[in-house]
Amino acid sequence: MLKLFLIALGIYLLVRMGWKVNAGPPAVRAVTDFMRASALTDREVVRMAREYIAWADRRCGRLPEDHPLVVRLRELGRGFIDTDRFEVGVYPAAEINAFACADGSIRVFAGLMERMSDGEIRAVIAHEMGHIVRKDSLRAMSNAYMASAARNAVSAAGGVLGSLSASALGEVALSLTGAKFSRDQEQAADDYAFDKLVAVGESPFVLVETLEKLASLASAGSVEKKSGLGSMFSTHPDPAGRAARIKTRAEAWLAGQNSCPGGQKRALSGE
Ligand SMILES: [Zn+2]
Repeated sequence: MLKLFLIALGIYLLVRMGWKVNAGPPAVRAVTDFMRASALTDREVVRMAREYIAWADRRCGRLPEDHPLVVRLRELGRGFIDTDRFEVGVYPAAEINAFACADGSIRVFAGLMERMSDGEIRAVIAHEMGHIVRKDSLRAMSNAYMASAARNAVSAAGGVLGSLSASALGEVALSLTGAKFSRDQEQAADDYAFDKLVAVGESPFVLVETLEKLASLASAGSVEKKSGLGSMFSTHPDPAGRAARIKTRAEAWLAGQNSCPGGQKRALSGE
């Protein structure tokens, strides 16, 4: 990887100095593709995400609309999920997982739905919405594409996805479901979920319960590895620490709900 990076850096500097590489050998084309990837626009990444999710839906056997789990998802999402912006579906995989894609798609695994209450599933979905709105999913896909383009000597012809072979597309896809978000990204997505729950009149303590449940499931070792898609514990780290942080915020919120506004207190005491 370091070697590739150094080659890329070298060629990048040569190109900056005016060296034409279009007619170069495959290794050089791979490097130019890597450089092109670094300039992907948001729109291109969203287009790639849309292609990816169509592929993933087929590969993972997305459940049909009349499946009981999908019916339940539609019910619990009514009035909560903005369907103009997000498109939510269920995979039959047994892992406790959910992931967000840059195009607004969110996929929840059956393993998670079977272990979580409706409120907890809403909390998980709200967290995933946070990753989409804050463009974490977009950056994860862009980074995965760059890494794949750097590893594969692919032709520069034929658009964004046209330049990726089927196996390379799979690589991007798997690195997306396995994309590990940073602590800051996780906290920001939790805060988004908190605000979303409060905005619809739901208690933010359901997010605390959800994170605590994820933490206990992780420590109990109930992480199944059946579909090879990984689990939420690796992609959304430190549920225990996040639960504690959100609990503090929820308690402050509750205290704010229960206290009298200052002006009113003064009026009541006659000051
Ligand atoms: Zn997350």
